[in-house]
Amino acid sequence: MASSWNEHVSDKKTSQITSTITWIAGTVALIVAVCLPLGYFALSYQYQVGEIGTESQFNAKLVSEFIQENPESWRFQESRLIDFLLEEDRIRAEYPEQRRILGADGEEIAISDAFFVSAPVISIREPVMYRGKVVAYFEVNRSLRPLLVTTALVALFGFVLASALFAALKIVPLRALNRALASLRQSEHLFSQAFHASPDPGMICRAEDGRIINVNKSFAQLSGYTLPEVVGRTHGDVALWADEDVIARAMQQLRLGQPVHNLEMTLLTKSGEHRDMLVSSEITEVGDALCSLTVARDVTEQKRAEQRMVYLANYDHLTGLPNRALFRDRLAGAMQRAQRAEHLVGLLYLDLDRFKQVNDSLGHQVGDQLLKQVAERLRQCVRLSDTIALSAAREELFGCTVARLGGDEFTLVLEDIKHIDEITRIAQRIVSALAIPFDLNGHQAFVGASIGITVFPFDDDDLDNLIRNADVAMYRAKALGRNNFQFYTDDLNANAEERLLLEAELRQALELNQFELVYQPKLNLRTNLISGVEALLRWRSPRKGLVPPTEFITLLEETGLIVPVGAWVLRTACEQAVDWARGGMRLSMAVNLSARQFCDESLIAIIRSAMNDAGLPADQLELEVTESLLMEDSVSSQTALANIKKMGVKISMDDFGTGYSSLAYLKRFPLDTLKIDRSFVKDVGVDPDDTAIVRAVIALSHNLRLTVVAEGVETREQLKFLREARCDQAQGYFISRPMGAAAFEVWMAENYDGQIAGTTPVHSVNQA
Ligand code: C2E
Ligand code: MG
Ligand code: MG
Repeated sequence: MASSWNEHVSDKKTSQITSTITWIAGTVALIVAVCLPLGYFALSYQYQVGEIGTESQFNAKLVSEFIQENPESWRFQESRLIDFLLEEDRIRAEYPEQRRILGADGEEIAISDAFFVSAPVISIREPVMYRGKVVAYFEVNRSLRPLLVTTALVALFGFVLASALFAALKIVPLRALNRALASLRQSEHLFSQAFHASPDPGMICRAEDGRIINVNKSFAQLSGYTLPEVVGRTHGDVALWADEDVIARAMQQLRLGQPVHNLEMTLLTKSGEHRDMLVSSEITEVGDALCSLTVARDVTEQKRAEQRMVYLANYDHLTGLPNRALFRDRLAGAMQRAQRAEHLVGLLYLDLDRFKQVNDSLGHQVGDQLLKQVAERLRQCVRLSDTIALSAAREELFGCTVARLGGDEFTLVLEDIKHIDEITRIAQRIVSALAIPFDLNGHQAFVGASIGITVFPFDDDDLDNLIRNADVAMYRAKALGRNNFQFYTDDLNANAEERLLLEAELRQALELNQFELVYQPKLNLRTNLISGVEALLRWRSPRKGLVPPTEFITLLEETGLIVPVGAWVLRTACEQAVDWARGGMRLSMAVNLSARQFCDESLIAIIRSAMNDAGLPADQLELEVTESLLMEDSVSSQTALANIKKMGVKISMDDFGTGYSSLAYLKRFPLDTLKIDRSFVKDVGVDPDDTAIVRAVIALSHNLRLTVVAEGVETREQLKFLREARCDQAQGYFISRPMGAAAFEVWMAENYDGQIAGTTPVHSVNQA
């Protein structure tokens, strides 16, 4: 189309130029053809008239002299006069000429030749004066025929010359023109080919009204518009570009004669798709019209790839939250803005409490699902925040950033904070939101989170220090029983260092034999005999002395050290129980297992080998698990519990009442014993609520055929109450503090001497 249009235009122009050249050549030829003979004739004629005039005057003078000689008789001397006339004739033989002498009245007196000169004739009559009077005339008649003949020859020559000139003037420029046009056509053809073959969409529009003249194939392919659909229409008619402002500015620039280079614009295709284009355009002459030639490059994929790169560099692909890099950027920005606005920035560092368990027991896919749900809840928490009501756009810009640093660690940057209370409220909201169980493929998971909080500029004004502060505060929150938040304080830093040191020491503790077990007896309230003991772990640290498990169990769990240490506890406790049984003291041995140990596939093997190696009958071993394990409700922990049960080992639920205390667990899991947490026992008989709870738990346990044990019995009154309430067993300082094996043997010998001799299987009595 472009080429045919161009050809049409150039054909028109060519014929215009051709006719102009023909016209000029014709005019020049005509001028030559006409002017040459005319000029020749006119000049020659003038010359002859002048010549004849001079000749006449001269001869008139001679005749006058002749008359002077013979004033009376000159008229009659005809022969002399004729000779005179003929004498002159000899001189002027070049042209046929007739000379006459006439009288004053015009009567012929003498004539050079009697014949007539052939017409046309130039005739000049000169008066001959005598004594001041015209007495005669001298007349010359010259034929113009020879002049006409030569003029005709000149005209012929002029015609030949004009024809040659016409040919030369027409052919030479036309040939040059044709050559130029041919090369123009060739270059137009090349342009057209290049235009259509170009992989980049191209378009030609008329400059004056912006109407589309032509588009190439790439354009048609990309936009979905065929050529007839767009030709004759403007960009606006077709609604080609999304950015009207940009196109208006581009047009303005083009109108000012400046080309547009690599302008970013969005093309709207016929199907409604948006394509990102880099558009270049300039005004150029196509045919005889000014046109804008626009070439666009589709950079959609490139842009998407770039955006994807930016996204990957800045966002966590799993949750879509900003990643560590972007989080740091946002925090830095928030700090700067806060400094100017004299606001506070709250930095929350959040770590999920039981992510590892979920991940280990339900698999990574479920773990990923959990992280996504956590991310969504965090988003909701800040979005629904009443302290900082932010539009979605503003939230994205600054306001609040929720980021995932990796693993189960998240951060929140809260901006525009005017009072610490606002941060507290959001932290509370988050803790509550994450305490609600997560539904993971039908599994209910209780996860919870520990949050450390630091406030800029109160705690520090350095970005890295702020992050470290929040991290330290988070560990404090974990140490304080998880599912809570803690603000950073200066002394926390010392704790963080302590934690690192502790971790390093614990890694060596097992090898260096620094762990010990102490045993706390359980009293059977019906028989008043010791039914068994609970093995409790201690760490004899060279630096800190004897360390209680509350100070290091979490760290063991977090580092995974709980698995080897737990195996050691089992082995040692089993050996101890067998050792005592050999001495006539057959007691049930209770060992605490942490949920983390259930993530270890070898748990069952560890239990079995501990019992077998020591030679302990299964019914003499009891494993205490906490509610958190049951709450996870994972397939692996369920299978492990069932296997433990199958081996004949008893399972006891520890610290009942501190977790969710869901009665569903009691039915679902193969429990033998329920241990009422000491927080309920503490005020039993005093606080009506606690009293009611303890009574209810005892009744419930009996209904479910579970042995019920009260923990933390510290007073005689508590013990009395429990006995009256028909609680099966009691454990606590009132009966005995946990003791080393040797001390326990002495204690037994002192207090339950009879029981050692009797060797009654106490637990079976309890079961009865
Ligand atoms: P737990 O299993 O509930 O153990 C009972 C805790 O209560 C023990 O603390 C015990 O010393 C303490 N206790 C007993 N009677 C009383 C009392 O009358 N008053 C008060 N205030 N406390 C009493 P301990 O030994 O510090 O152990 C704390 C927790 O550490 C244990 O709670 C248990 O969950 C965990 N733990 C101990 N040893 C191990 C172990 O070998 N493995 C695992 N996984 N956890 C262990
Ligand atoms: Mg216990
Ligand atoms: Mg307990």
